[in-house]
Parts: sequence; structure tokens; C-alpha cells
Amino acid sequence: MKIAKVVVDVAASPIDSALDYEIPEHFQDIVQAGIRVIVPLGPRKVMGFVVGLTNHSEFDQLKPIQEVMDYTPILTKELINLSSWLRQETLCFRISALQAMLPAVFKASYDKEVWLLDEMDSLPASLQKAAGGREVFPFNDLSEAGLTDSQVKQYIKGQLIDIKYVVKGKNRVKTYTAVKKAVDDVNILEELEHLSLNAKKQREVLTYMLHQDEPILLKELTEELNTTKGPIDSLVKKGLLTMVKQEVYRDPFETKEHQSTKPLSLTELQQKAIEPILDSINETYYQTFLLHGVTGSGKTEIYLQSIQRVLDLGKEAIVLVPEIALTPQMVSRFKARFGSDVAVLHSGLSQGEKYDEWRKIHRKEVRVVVGARSAIFAPFEHLGIIIIDEEHEQTYKQEDYPKYHAREVAKKRASDHHCPVVLGSATPTLESYARALKGVYHLLELTERVNEQAMPEVEIVDMRQELLQGNRSMFSETLTDKINERIERKEQVVLMLNRRGYSTFVMCRECGETISCDHCDISMTYHSKQHKLKCHYCNDERPMPQICPNCESDAIRFFGTGTQKVEEALNLHFPNAGIIRMDVDTTSRKGAHEKLLEKFGNGEADILLGTQMIAKGLDFENVTLVGVIAADSMLHLPDFRASEKSFQLLTQVSGRAGRHQLPGEVVIQTYTPEHYSVELASQYDYEAFFNKEMQVRRQFQYPPYYYLALINISHDNHVEAVKVANEAANIIATHTTGNCQLMGPTPSPMLRIKDRYRYQCMLKYKRREDVDQALESVLNHFQKQINKSQLQLTIDLEPYHFM
Ligand code: ADP
Ligand code: ZN
Ligand code: ZN
Repeated sequence: MKIAKVVVDVAASPIDSALDYEIPEHFQDIVQAGIRVIVPLGPRKVMGFVVGLTNHSEFDQLKPIQEVMDYTPILTKELINLSSWLRQETLCFRISALQAMLPAVFKASYDKEVWLLDEMDSLPASLQKAAGGREVFPFNDLSEAGLTDSQVKQYIKGQLIDIKYVVKGKNRVKTYTAVKKAVDDVNILEELEHLSLNAKKQREVLTYMLHQDEPILLKELTEELNTTKGPIDSLVKKGLLTMVKQEVYRDPFETKEHQSTKPLSLTELQQKAIEPILDSINETYYQTFLLHGVTGSGKTEIYLQSIQRVLDLGKEAIVLVPEIALTPQMVSRFKARFGSDVAVLHSGLSQGEKYDEWRKIHRKEVRVVVGARSAIFAPFEHLGIIIIDEEHEQTYKQEDYPKYHAREVAKKRASDHHCPVVLGSATPTLESYARALKGVYHLLELTERVNEQAMPEVEIVDMRQELLQGNRSMFSETLTDKINERIERKEQVVLMLNRRGYSTFVMCRECGETISCDHCDISMTYHSKQHKLKCHYCNDERPMPQICPNCESDAIRFFGTGTQKVEEALNLHFPNAGIIRMDVDTTSRKGAHEKLLEKFGNGEADILLGTQMIAKGLDFENVTLVGVIAADSMLHLPDFRASEKSFQLLTQVSGRAGRHQLPGEVVIQTYTPEHYSVELASQYDYEAFFNKEMQVRRQFQYPPYYYLALINISHDNHVEAVKVANEAANIIATHTTGNCQLMGPTPSPMLRIKDRYRYQCMLKYKRREDVDQALESVLNHFQKQINKSQLQLTIDLEPYHFM
């Protein structure tokens, strides 16, 4: 083949399809589909992906490829084709689709390293010369030693060398400072005798080091002896100790021991549910299953045994879980069953760590990947199953380009691989459940918990009544009593508050003035630590005002409740209780999340207080009470899914109680006890909720009755924003066909964010072909302006954010 089809790294519509480039003679046997190359584009040199080879081009006078970046394909044929599909499906540029499938390291600037895979002596002389005695060396040393590209490719193919990418400026290996003895024990004993009595800490350090023959991490030493670095520095100066750099590789999931588990013998219900899945695996046909089962009904065991079957057939499995860093318990269940056959991909990993996990998949060292959304692009070539746990979670939708939903990608890949997709949830999305009832998906129901324990009893407390009866605290009498009972019985409590920060908004009690951000039109949030107001959208901050800027009254106060405030109230009401608070503020450090959960799991606290992050996947034996401080906080967002989200969250958090021997109880505090989301969640009546919510969706013509496309327009000039929004609406209106409705343009619920004015149009439609032309026309019409001016125009098919 003489010609390569290349998708270049330039986001612009006229060159979005692949361009033809000539493959020069010396690259003939190197260039193949799935590698990256450098090509000339006008006066520039740009990176591009080779997506295919051909012998014929419509154009003559092709420019040649200038450089080859990869010697083995980083994308499979299937993924290359998938990028085309993704482009059409989400209306993104092909280059964004390709890049979305790869770890970010391929976008960053990096160095290439050569790793020798064989004994030095058995390598060809030219390689030995390039290596110069090193096991790992810079890629450029190969050409400097006179090796040609095709030689390099041969060596890779023959597994003599491997090429690894290393992010520039980042340490590949983490190093920590460690302390060790610089002298013999005799010298240390001598020093101890002569040390002045005031040098108490130095004495402690030396005494400790006396029995310490291996280097000890500086951090560990200071923690152990409860000292600062000062005394250690002094001892280093005296030449008694020395500091060394030590390599430590820590993966929160790797260091833990995973006790290996064996398949459990399935219950009758589980057996009935797994059979159709196994059938689809064995007979290699594509089918999407919706596995609907309450928490504790044994869904995970079904996933595990389905995967086992896939592995037995020599195939591979992708498991998506939401925000994996938040559910270490889930990951360890997969590692415990499949051991080192599992790669883990999640957002908490550094670029380098993500690349390492990706490499395990790419090099076929693992056959199972457990990961967050982007793991759906794992470069497996023999997929046998794709599992999406908690399928209702919004994290499966990507908000940046390409705005894909992992569920749709899963269905596409599974149909290409002739294998099943399993969507699991206790509270499926209305879309999925409706499809299951229509027979588009195969519905599998697990109606009971494995241990046959009833779901915990839920009590709804009307907070308006509490107030009437003079209880002004944030804990109802019922909740207070039940918490006290638990503390007495040494059982544990989980409390959920769907908010963060000390408090929410600031309001003047005299005139009702609230303080909002100058750039975003949303209320600013009071943060008690710095005594400041902050905007959560743009991070702008200002001091808390002493007097109302409107009426100058000093009755300006913060309102609402945040986790910090609840924590303080808890300390006041339950002085003997140990409390662990878990929210974005206490879990921002890497590994903090796991640590807090571990502490709670070890019984080091009575109460775990947290935001919705505690609702997911936790499983603690001793938790017998779950409290929801205010169930209303999500019901009033400008989002047609507000009721659905509330129902899901309430059901999920209730499932945290009584998962084992001890029976559980749930208390939901609310100002709107009559709302069907709250009421039906308390009865665990998914079906009734589904039916009720479907009526609402039908009446207001929302999904699953209609599909939505959200067109977002923003500009830093308000007049321009309005102009473009109107123009876009006109174009859409004239190009749609069939059964469609155009709403808007309207100002977005947040009219201004970071000084940009935001408008939107919503398009409701039944069939994609009715809107395709309209959407493409809008994109094409504004493309030039988007590249040149401050205009942004994006289209979101299957939108989840309406703010
Ligand atoms: P889900 O994923 O639906 O929440 P799990 O798979 O986590 O449910 O199962 C809940 C509990 O029941 C777990 O502790 C699990 O080990 C246990 N379990 C699941 N299946 C069986 C079985 N067939 N026999 C015994 N215990 C089981
Ligand atoms: Zn702001
Ligand atoms: Zn005022």
C-alpha cells in the first residue's frame, strides 16, 4: 500500500474526514492502521492517526508522511471504526473521538524509552551499541546508533525491545525520603551518652534508630515519634543519620491483600437470572440485559460468574462502575475473584498510572478491566461481556466532547463482538426500564435479598411538624432517639446530607437580599473556615459582609445546612459519639476516601456523616440506622430528572442499613413528605414510581417518550449571544422534519458563568433522522465563527445538565 488515510489533530469541519498522504519508501513496512504519524498540513506539521491504507487516491501530488510516532498500533481496527460511529452519534470531530479512546498520556508531551526484553549478550550488536550497557534508554539513541526504522520495527516484533511512553517532567516512579543510620550502633550509643538533656527529641530518634536496620520513611518516623523534621536534620548534620531517596509504588488497590474468593452456589433467583446471560455468552449473540434487583440481591455475584464463563472461553470482560475511587469495596471483590487478571482504570490515578493500566490491557496481560466511564474503550479484541453496574448513574455520560454515553458505546461494541451487555441497578433509569418492558432489553429481576432479609423499615418525618412543636434543631425527635439507641448498643449510623460546605447561602432577614456572584448569577456559599463567601461555579470569593449591601441592616446571616454545620450540631447533641465526616473537603487528598471508610469499618466512629458519596456501594455489617437530614434538597432543581434522582438517591442510601445479620432502619426527614419520590422510595416501590413518573414524562413530553437535543450557546457579549441563539433557532426550525418540537431560545438557568452569557434551545424528537440535518446545518453555519470569535455552540444529544 502506498497511501495512508490520516485523521489529523485539527478540529475543523472541512478536514474532519481522513486526508491522504504518501507513505515514503523507508516507512513502507512500518505505517499501518492505528499508529500515529506526523504529517505536513499547509505550512504546519501536525500529528495524525492512520485510520486506513489504500493504493488509490482521488488526488495526485500527495505529500509524504514525515515521521512515525508508534511502531505498534495503539488503536485496534474496531476502535478506529468506532470513532466514526462516535462522530456521527455525538456530532463531534473524529479526532476527539479517537483521542477519547486513549489514555491522556498520548496527548501530553512525553518521551519515548526503549526497554530491553532480552539478555544483553543475546541482542544484535547494533542494539547493544545503542543500549551501551543500559536496560532502559532514550528512544533517540536508536537512530543515533544507526538503526533504521524497519530494524526497530523488527526488534519490537521479535520481542527484543519494547517502547514505553513517559510523560515529560513527571517522575515515572514516586520517590520518598527515607532515613537510615550513617554510623555503627556503637557510635550511636556513644552519642546518646553525650547528648545534652535538652535534646529530648534527638534522643528519642536515636534510640529508635538503634533498632532500625532498614531505612525508614521520613514521614513514618516523624509520625511514629510524634516529632518534626528538625531533630532528624540535626542528627544528619552531625553525620549520625543520612537521608536517602526511596522508590515506593503505591496503588490503593494493589497494596491491600485481596483474600481470594470462590464462586458461591447461586440461589434459585440468581440462577434464573444468569441463565439468559450465559446463553448469550455461549451462543455468541448480542443482547442487552437489564438486571433489576435491590441492593443485596446478589447482582455482583451474577457479574462475577458471568465473567468467569467469559474467561473460560478465552475472552475478555469490561466492567464499568461509577466513580470507582468511591467504591474500593467493589474493586476488591473483582480482584479477590480474578486476581492479577484485573486492570483498574479510574480518575484517581495519575496519567502515568492510567497508562500503566492501559498497557496491561494493550499487551494482553489482563482480561478483565474494572473502570470508570472511559474504560468502555479498553482495547480488548475478544470481548465476551460488558457490564455496567448502577446503570442509572450520571457519570456514564461524558460532558466534554465527545459527549457520549458509555451505555450506548457498550451496546455498539457488544453488537460488534456478538456478546451481552448487562445493565445492573436497583433503580434503573426510566429509559432503560421502559425499553426492557418493550422487550428491547431482556429484563431480569431479582426480587429478594440473598439473605432473605427484608429491606430496612423507612420512617418519614415531617420537619414542618417538628418546627410547629418547637423543635428548632436539625434532628427530629425520632432521629435523635434512634441515634442514641445505636450509640448505646455500639451499632453504627450513616447520616446523609446532600450538600457541602459549612452553610449554603447568605440572606438578609430584614429585606430578603441574597448575595450572588457577580459573574454567575448564583448564590454565593459561606465557608466558615475562612469566613468568606465563595462561588462554586467560578471560584470567585469575597469577605462575608457585616451589613446588608441593600438595606444596611446587620441582620445578614447564612442559611441552610452544610456537612460542617451538621457535624457541629452532632457534637453538641451527641457529645459521646465518634463522628467521621466525608465530603469533598475531607476527601480531596488521594487515598483519604479509603482511609475514612476503613476507619469507619473498623468501628472507630459511631456516625458516618457525608454527602451523597456515602450513598453508593458501601457495605458495613454494623450499620443499623441510616438518616437523611433533608430529602428535599434535590427535588427543586431545574431539571426534569429531579424526581427520578431523588428517588434513586433515597433508595440507594436506604440500602446501606441492615445489610447483614442486624436488621436496619431508615429515617428520612423532609419538608415535603407528600412528594411521590419520597413516599414511594420509603416503600421501595420502584414499579409504582416508574408508572407515576412515566405519566409525568408523557404529559410534558420528556424522555423516554421523546429524545432531547440541547443546543448551548454562549458568548462573552450578551447581545451577540442572543443574536446567535435566535439565528440558531431559525436554522433548526427550517431544517427539522417529522415529529419535532423546538423550545427556546431561552436564557440558561445560570444566565452567566465566568462572564459568559448563556442561552439554550431544546429540541424534542422521536427519530434521529428528523433532526440530523437541522443539527448539522447549525454546526456548519457557525463553525467559522466558533473558531474565530468568542462564540461557543455545542450540541448535546441525551443531555443531563440543564443549568
Ligand atoms: P448486589 O450487588 O445486588 O448489591 P451482592 O452480589 O453484593 O448484591 O450480594 C449481597 C451479599 O450477598 C454479598 O455479601 C454476597 O457475598 C452475598 N451473596 C451473593 N450471592 C450469594 C449466594 N449465592 N450465596 C450466598 N451469599 C451470596
Ligand atoms: Zn461565579
Ligand atoms: Zn437587607
